[in-house]
Amino acid sequence: MNAPVLSPGKPTASLDVERLRADFPILANVHPHGKPLAYLDNGASSQMPQRVIDRLVRYQTHEHANIHRGVHTLSERATAAYEEARHRVQGFLNALSDREIVFTSNVTDAINLVAHGFGRAFIGEGDEIIITHLEHHANIVPWQMLCEEKGAKLRVVPIDDTGTVLMDEYEKLFTPRTKFVSVTHVSNALGTVNPVDEMVRISHAHGVPIMIDGAQAVQHMPVDVQALDCDFYAFTGHKLYGPTGIGVLYGKAEWLERMKPFRGGGDMILSVTFEKTTYNVIPFKFEAGTPPIAQAIALGEAAEYVRGIGLEAIAAHEQALLAYATERVAALPGVRIYGTARHKAAVLSFYLGEVHPHDVGTLLNEDGVAVRTGHHCAQPVMQRFRIPGTVRASFAFYNTFEEADALVDSLRRIQKLFA
Ligand SMILES: *Cc1c(COP(=O)(O)O)cnc(C)c1O
Repeated sequence: MNAPVLSPGKPTASLDVERLRADFPILANVHPHGKPLAYLDNGASSQMPQRVIDRLVRYQTHEHANIHRGVHTLSERATAAYEEARHRVQGFLNALSDREIVFTSNVTDAINLVAHGFGRAFIGEGDEIIITHLEHHANIVPWQMLCEEKGAKLRVVPIDDTGTVLMDEYEKLFTPRTKFVSVTHVSNALGTVNPVDEMVRISHAHGVPIMIDGAQAVQHMPVDVQALDCDFYAFTGHKLYGPTGIGVLYGKAEWLERMKPFRGGGDMILSVTFEKTTYNVIPFKFEAGTPPIAQAIALGEAAEYVRGIGLEAIAAHEQALLAYATERVAALPGVRIYGTARHKAAVLSFYLGEVHPHDVGTLLNEDGVAVRTGHHCAQPVMQRFRIPGTVRASFAFYNTFEEADALVDSLRRIQKLFA
C-alpha cells in the first residue's frame, strides 16, 4: 500500500507521458506570461482529461434529468449513469459492495458526515479521538467541533523533523476512552505517506474504528480498502482528474447501517409523516437532496481513466520525478526542504533562502510554473517547523522532467533577483 521508497532517479520509461499529456487540453492551451505551462499544483487540484470533459458534455446533452424518481427515459438514463459511477468507484477502491460508496460533495463533506453520523451516535463526554500532526484542516476542525459539542478530547500523534509520524507515540495514545481514529494517508503539506496498514492494525487491536483521508493518496498509489481493512476511507474528485463538487466516502456497511444520517431531506427517506420518518437504505440514507449527478458520473469516468493507465505505473513515474526534482531543488544554495520522510508521494515543499514563499510563487508564475504557496490548509504542520508556509510543487503523472527543470531554472532566476 505504501509508495516505493524514494530513491534518486532518472527519467523512467514506465509511462508514455507525452502521449498522456495530449489527453489534457488545458496543458497545451494555457501560456502564463507567454510561457509553456508547467502545472505543479496538482495537490490543490488536478486537471481533467478530455475523456472526462466529454463525459460531462454527453451527460448534459443526452442524459440529464433528476435521478431515482422519474419514470421517463432521461431520468432512467441519468439514474443508470449515476449508479454506474458508484459501481466504478467501488471497483476503484475494491470495496465489497456498491452500498458502501456514498457520494459527497468533497472529502471535507465526507469527513463531516462521519463526524456527525458516527460521532454524534457513538462519542460522548470524556471520550478521545486520535488524529496526527500532519492533518489537513478538513481532518481537524470537524473533530474539534464534535469534541466541543460532546466534551470529548482530541489527541494528536506527533511527528519528527522529517515529517514522519511517531508510531510508538501513536500506539501510546490509545486508552480505554479512545473511540475513533482519523488519519491522513498522505500529507498534503509534506508528502509523507503514513503507514496506514500498521495504523489500522493497531487501531483495531484496541477495538477502535479508523477513518483514512485519502485526498492525496488515491491519485498516486493503488488503494484497496478491503486489504487495508479501514472502516472509512474518503477522497475528493477534483484531485483525481475529475470535477469539483464531488467526493467519496467509503464506509463498511456495518458502520453505515448503524450511523445516523448527516442531512435530512428528499431521497434519504423511505416514508415521511409529520410523526415519523423512516430512513432509506445505505448509501441513499446519506445522500439527501439532489446529488451532484454530472460530477459523480464524470468522477466515475476519471476513476476508469486512471485505472486504465495503472496506479503502479503512475507511482513509478511520479517517484522518479519527485526524486529528480528533490535532488535538483535541494542543490540550490540556501534551500530548505520540508518533508524528508522515507516514504513520500509527489509533494516537494521547500523554502528558498529568505525569500517569502508568496513572492517565490508569484515569480515562478512569470516563468509559467504553477505552484502553491502558504500553509496548505495545514497550519499545525507549519507551526511544527516554525514557518509561515512553504512553496509546494506537487506532481501528477502528466508532469515531465523538463517541467522539474523549468522549476529549478526559475528558482535560480529568483535567487539572482534577491541576491
Ligand atoms: C485537499 C485535501 C482535503 C480537502 O479537500 P476538499 O476537496 O477541499 O474537501 C482534505 N485532506 C487532504 C489531505 C487534502 O489534500
